[in-house]
Amino acid sequence: MSRRAPVAVTLAAAALLSPLTAVAQDAAAPSTEAKPNDLLNAALWMQESVEYKANAVGIFAFAKARLDAALTDKGASALDQSDAGDKPPAIIIDLDETAIDNSAYESGLVTTNADYSSKTWAEWVDAKQAKAVPGVLDYLGYADGKGVKIFYVSNRTADQEEATRANMQALGFPMGGNVDTFLMNKEKDGWGSDKEARRQFVANEYRVVAMVGDNYGDFTKAAGGTAPERMAAFEKDQAHFTTDWFMLANPTYGSWESTAFGNDYKLSADQKRAMKQDALEPWTPKAAQ
Ligand SMILES: [Mg+2]
Repeated sequence: MSRRAPVAVTLAAAALLSPLTAVAQDAAAPSTEAKPNDLLNAALWMQESVEYKANAVGIFAFAKARLDAALTDKGASALDQSDAGDKPPAIIIDLDETAIDNSAYESGLVTTNADYSSKTWAEWVDAKQAKAVPGVLDYLGYADGKGVKIFYVSNRTADQEEATRANMQALGFPMGGNVDTFLMNKEKDGWGSDKEARRQFVANEYRVVAMVGDNYGDFTKAAGGTAPERMAAFEKDQAHFTTDWFMLANPTYGSWESTAFGNDYKLSADQKRAMKQDALEPWTPKAAQ
């Protein structure tokens, strides 16, 4: 029996059950109109792969395993605080593609062949359909149980805080009790998309024992530099990434991508694509030279 036969039998049997299953069968058929969208592989990987889920679960298990040592060592600080020993412990964690998974929004950009826009993004935030990234609830629940305050430092804007809170409360995230632990972009004067001011805001009152993100900017303001500057900063920061900075994989977007087109978001999609391609360091076979 061929490997395909059981599927064909199952679909034929399902089609007899109701008109709805016939529609489902059509939806499962390969599309003849695949959209030429650069996000396809990244969205497919995040939404459908075991590989993505296993990676996320592994990072959060590592972070959890590191937490007890960081709590015991009063001199330990993910922000290199020199005076933090007596402060209560806190974790700073990013939201999008770190704690919550927006891959359905990214997949929608592929199937409608659209670029990200603040308008469709706001609609997605308001729909409250983000999922928890695999492993994050176990990690944050463990930390919360040890008395660690969890601060969500997000570049979702202040007007999106209410919908974001509702989405995350329904998923079971620690919500901070009587402390506002959702520190959004533009929530206070001086809080811009660079997260440094918000990291310092947390550090004023807490000892930051871990930071978690999917973007270099979730950890350091050095993320905004040129590609060589970022690499130099990484060399300096590397020890953090094996102790108290935890990076989730996000192939759909991030400062790694915008660095390649000089962080110039006004360029056209074609111009950005050309600059990203120019940033590659290829080897080419003789026949292609
Ligand atoms: Mg993020």
